[in-house]
Amino acid sequence: MMHPPDRPSVLGAGGDNAIAFAIGVAADEWTLLILRHALQNGTRRVHDWQAVLPVSTAVLTSRLRRMTEVGIFVPVGPGHDPNAVEYHLSRRGTALWPIIVSIWAWEATWADGQAERLPAMRHRGCGELFAPLLGCGTCGRPVPPREVTGEFGPSGSWPRTAPNTTMRRRSSGSASLGPGFFPQSRALIGNRWSAAMLGAAYLGARRFSEFQRRLSAPATVIADRLRTFRDLGVLEVSGDPDRSDRSTYRLTDKGRAFFPVVMSAIEWGQRWFLAPEGPALVFHHRGADHAFSVLLLCSACSAPLAGREIEAV
Ligand SMILES: [Zn+2]
Ligand SMILES: [Zn+2]
Repeated sequence: MMHPPDRPSVLGAGGDNAIAFAIGVAADEWTLLILRHALQNGTRRVHDWQAVLPVSTAVLTSRLRRMTEVGIFVPVGPGHDPNAVEYHLSRRGTALWPIIVSIWAWEATWADGQAERLPAMRHRGCGELFAPLLGCGTCGRPVPPREVTGEFGPSGSWPRTAPNTTMRRRSSGSASLGPGFFPQSRALIGNRWSAAMLGAAYLGARRFSEFQRRLSAPATVIADRLRTFRDLGVLEVSGDPDRSDRSTYRLTDKGRAFFPVVMSAIEWGQRWFLAPEGPALVFHHRGADHAFSVLLLCSACSAPLAGREIEAV
């Protein structure tokens, strides 16, 4: 199915929901890197991406094809000459900037060795270096994760939320796994169960049995992901270390700091992929009695950020 670039797609009933599409984009490292250069530098041609990314032609063209299908890019130019085609970001593609900025900031702060590899971000509005802060689109205030409550809407459920296919093409071999710019983000949302587990943690799951009940996943899958998240320092465990059924798992500061990435991805998905039954997730600003939507704020001046006002330095 081709998705229209400048208006929302209407999804088939009962299939992958909006969040599955969003995870499909946010979990693929090459997709994020291609987007980053398109957003930041206006990169549009195959050879211009290849000048800045260590990506093979096969991997790059397969990603551009998939991103075009999803409506992120609009190819312009002669189809018979791949090198002459320009891939223009659609409104849908341009609207992905909050995901890129959030992942970038989180990796630079929390993943070892990433701060040196990723340039800092400057807000043109105030001229200062900044990190994005999650704010509420309704009231404009900064919002910590505990103030956001979420519940499944009509098209929501974990099986429909965990994508069956991401942008990653396994048949392309290990070369397609990416150059390692966003290693920890990929560990958190890079496959269907990880993303769902993280979502369940944000929605309040604390115990093994709660994760299992919410995801309907095999116990071995739950145990494996809990171990991975613990090793990454995203969840901390208390209770009996030898009895996972008696332990309590809580998000750490590092885990909570990833919340803007997840929320930005969900926001994009639900803005551009509409399920006929209604949204997959519905959010509220706790204590403020209104709906929550994502607004990124500048940590230096507190103003709402716009993608065109952000520069890498
Ligand atoms: Zn609010
Ligand atoms: Zn600012």
